[in-house]
Amino acid sequence: MRYPKLRELKEAVTSLLTPAYTTKYPGVEHVPFEKFRGKPVVDNENCVGCETCANVCPPHAITFTDDPVKKSRTIRRDYGKCIFCGQCQDHCITGKGVILSDKIFDMASFDRAQAVEFQEKELLICKNCGAVITTREHLQFIHRKIGPKAFSSVLNLNVLNEKLKLSEDKDVDVEIRDDLKRKDMFNILCPNCLRLVLVKYL
Ligand code: SF4
Ligand code: SF4
Repeated sequence: MRYPKLRELKEAVTSLLTPAYTTKYPGVEHVPFEKFRGKPVVDNENCVGCETCANVCPPHAITFTDDPVKKSRTIRRDYGKCIFCGQCQDHCITGKGVILSDKIFDMASFDRAQAVEFQEKELLICKNCGAVITTREHLQFIHRKIGPKAFSSVLNLNVLNEKLKLSEDKDVDVEIRDDLKRKDMFNILCPNCLRLVLVKYL
């Protein structure tokens, strides 16, 4: 019993003589250490709304809601739930969509709503079955990433056609009526509907 008491006494004296480990924040400005993982900061220009970060976020702080009618995806990031693990940054497909700040750490507030951020992204919807394909920016990102190989996908080709608007008519949309037909393979279709057309008319 004697030795442990002496050891504790030595610890107490050492602690009294060494400077405090904690900082005097908020009285004194706190400078976080290098590679500190603070608030995940989203760069909307480089975020394509692909869903990857939501799938890897351990506490489900990132969620997505798709509205096929409005063709819109709402991304909700709740930093009240965030554990600052950095998984969203590590798995971001563009590498620049979200980066943990090494300076922003003080996010305490009395209102939980202040810790929530939203983004809106345009969705691509299958013109036959109405299924959500992905966001337009996500598909464009894949285009840029894989270059001409992207055109091996009919969907990519069709999205490019839509963008080029080669027809002088303002509305180049062709409505899908009475089931899928061969011509519809050049429409914006989800992989399931596209497979149906291709298998039927091969
Ligand atoms: S840092 Fe971790 S917990 Fe926070 S949003 Fe990113 S993945 Fe989710
Ligand atoms: S993984 Fe990156 S690009 Fe995809 S939604 Fe998250 S932040 Fe945006």
